[in-house]
Amino acid sequence: MTETLSPPRPTRLTISTEAIVANRRAVAAKCAASVEVAGVVKADGYGTGGPQAAVAMAADGARTFFVAHVGEGIDVRAALTAAGWTQARIFVLNGLLPGTEETLAAHGLAPVLGSLPEIEDWAAFGRDQDLPLPCAIHVDTGMNRHGLSLEEARALAARPDLVAASGADLVMSHLACADEPKHPLNALQLARFKSIRGLFPDISASLANSAGVFLGPEYHFDLVRPGIALYGGAIVSGQPSPMRPVVGLEATILQVRDVPHGESVGYGARQTVRRTSRLAVLSVGYADGFHRTASGADSAPGGSGHLAGHRVPIVGRISMDLLMVDVTDVPGAARGDRVELIGPHVSLQEVAKAMGTIDYEVLTSLGRRYQRVRV
Ligand SMILES: *Cc1c(COP(=O)(O)O)cnc(C)c1O
Repeated sequence: MTETLSPPRPTRLTISTEAIVANRRAVAAKCAASVEVAGVVKADGYGTGGPQAAVAMAADGARTFFVAHVGEGIDVRAALTAAGWTQARIFVLNGLLPGTEETLAAHGLAPVLGSLPEIEDWAAFGRDQDLPLPCAIHVDTGMNRHGLSLEEARALAARPDLVAASGADLVMSHLACADEPKHPLNALQLARFKSIRGLFPDISASLANSAGVFLGPEYHFDLVRPGIALYGGAIVSGQPSPMRPVVGLEATILQVRDVPHGESVGYGARQTVRRTSRLAVLSVGYADGFHRTASGADSAPGGSGHLAGHRVPIVGRISMDLLMVDVTDVPGAARGDRVELIGPHVSLQEVAKAMGTIDYEVLTSLGRRYQRVRV
């Protein structure tokens, strides 16, 4: 038999499924025992692998999951079924696209309905099937994104036949500013949600995302919907995360080169070295989701990595498949060494800051070319 050699992948993404499970437990520890802790696994589990995250959390007691798209729901359902978790509920946050009722029903997916036409279509489909199929109703309490307006929610509540026919078993809303605990919109959304919730007394209620859980018990209702907390992201904007880190990223040095004092580095010649420098060329770039906004320039420093006890700053523009770090101060830095780009010395929050974005976007951008290792 011939052995199949897979191509080497010089950048390694480590994902700790155990940390995801531990983070869900930490969220549960903030809630009363009566509060259900769902798992948000949309966008492929924030880039870490949605089906794997769902199966691991199901094994630890999770019974409800949220995805954004029907396709994600199909993948998560297949993985849960294969692992024997046949009773799990999966909600599709982006709702009901016209003509997708059969697909949702075939895979046991419950749409999160955000408009009266969606509710009417889903109820009509349930009538055709002779039984209402589960769904959630999303009410907008101040984000002005997805969901029924407060007026529409009141109009719906006045039509109990339609509510019953829709099969709704969750009424939910979403906080716009939960990561800013002092923002006045939090209390306003809470008050609006309480008034709406009272209109649907027989249906479970859910308001809190990860940061919403940390706003306190009055935000918890019957079910909480953490996402970013599961994956180690920050809870309060701009502060370190209290959660366990889930991802690590290490890129291999392809080449170490000397660059004379006064020479510029990379596309656009945006950064000039101020001393004769040793630069390491790493096999990672913006095509891997390592955003160009973390580039170094003379006008402003960029992000940095970590190697053998030293910070190694990114020098010059990040290119599609490569970036350069300054290893002048790291004796013995050599071709084949691995530089930490996210990990114990370089937090996800720091990387997000260097990229001018949020933890969510760093995680959901994580590249397809990495060697993915689950620990
Ligand atoms: C993404 C999402 C969540 C999870 O939000 P996090 O901030 O990641 O915890 C919860 N609810 C809805 C409606 C969402 O879209």
